[in-house]
Amino acid sequence: MNPDETQRLIIDESAAARQLRAGFPWLRFEKDLEQEFRREQMRSRLSQVRSNLYLAGVIVVAFALLNTLVIGATIHSAIYWLQFGLVLPAIGLLIALTRHHAAHKVYQRYAPVTVAFIGVAVVLVESRAALAGVQILFVGVLLCSVYVYYLVGLLFYEALRANVIIWCSYLAVGIVSALPEAAVLYNTLVLLIANVVGATVAYSFELEIRTHFLEQRMLAETAARDGLTGLYNRRRFDEHLETVWQLAQREGVTLALLLVDIDFFKRFNDRHGHQAGDECLKAVAAALTRSARRPLDFTARYGGEEFAMILYDPSRQYLQDVASQIHANVAGLGIPHGDSDIARAVTVSIGVAYVAPTLERSTAGFVQLADEALYGAKGEGRNRSVFSETAYADLETGSFKPRAAV
Ligand code: GH3
Ligand code: MG
Ligand code: MG
Repeated sequence: MNPDETQRLIIDESAAARQLRAGFPWLRFEKDLEQEFRREQMRSRLSQVRSNLYLAGVIVVAFALLNTLVIGATIHSAIYWLQFGLVLPAIGLLIALTRHHAAHKVYQRYAPVTVAFIGVAVVLVESRAALAGVQILFVGVLLCSVYVYYLVGLLFYEALRANVIIWCSYLAVGIVSALPEAAVLYNTLVLLIANVVGATVAYSFELEIRTHFLEQRMLAETAARDGLTGLYNRRRFDEHLETVWQLAQREGVTLALLLVDIDFFKRFNDRHGHQAGDECLKAVAAALTRSARRPLDFTARYGGEEFAMILYDPSRQYLQDVASQIHANVAGLGIPHGDSDIARAVTVSIGVAYVAPTLERSTAGFVQLADEALYGAKGEGRNRSVFSETAYADLETGSFKPRAAV
């Protein structure tokens, strides 16, 4: 694989970019992305959905008042029972779900079925009222369908499924009840048309919010990347280090940090030009990425001609393998270096820190330990790795000479 191809792979490994390219006509992302989308979607819409549900409760009460004014007293009890015994408590249940501490999970699980239940109950209310000669409550069924598509926080397919159930129940109730056939047919068709329109708009709406989600992800991804090499940048490295440091502390596992520095790179630039220097940085970045391929291995451009690699819970053997693989892969690039004291091609030196994060240790100390090891590798003649496992709490920082900043 040539460096450019690897470069493209590094940049394109973003799941969001892949998904955007592949498309999602069925409104479904690959597994992890889908979960994250749903979680974020729920989190951002929860309070709005809750307000919509309170409003739904108010609407039900308003309809009940309307019934009292319009419908005769004899059938009040059945309709009231449906409205206050089924619909309102079910709306209350949905509101309670939005208040659950794990709302994003429980709401997604129970809301679709509860919503369908409410819809069927509304259909029953409407048909009872229609039997009493009042058609006005059909508006309630239409309103309910609109609610299901847009206002209760369901995704497209969940909303569509609930609405299909509501539509079928309307048809079924119409068939078994003594309502006039023409009215049932007319209303069923009106409900169908409303659903076609509602579903079409809901589909394009979800297509849009999913696209927006992926674009936001890609933007965040780009902000975390180094423009030249496509590796993660320093800012992302700092964040990642803090995260895995705490994780490793909790899990009681070790972390390794490899600081990789190109040897005599200033001379390389002076001899071969800055442009060639940039190409060299890209090729070395690609070689590094090829050297550590476990899912949790993390490679970043630390700055200038320095790279950093974080390995989570590596065995000593794996750590040594990665380090020698880096030397081998960089050598394999065979980039001629006309002004190196130690080789004819570009080489790197590596400082490795290998520690178990504990409370009295810090990430800053961890980086310093690797830096010190790198300094050692330079001092010992370059083109080699120096491993340091010393607890840096005891490190004699006085002997640490920071190298010239690049
Ligand atoms: P050592 O073997 O001790 O590491 O020596 P060195 O010359 O590699 O180290 P030094 O820190 O003296 O020089 C690093 C050089 O890296 C200086 C700078 O011109 C070059 N450099 C830093 N960033 C870039 C970049 O983005 N592109 C190019 N072409 N060169 C860069
Ligand atoms: Mg350097
Ligand atoms: Mg250097």
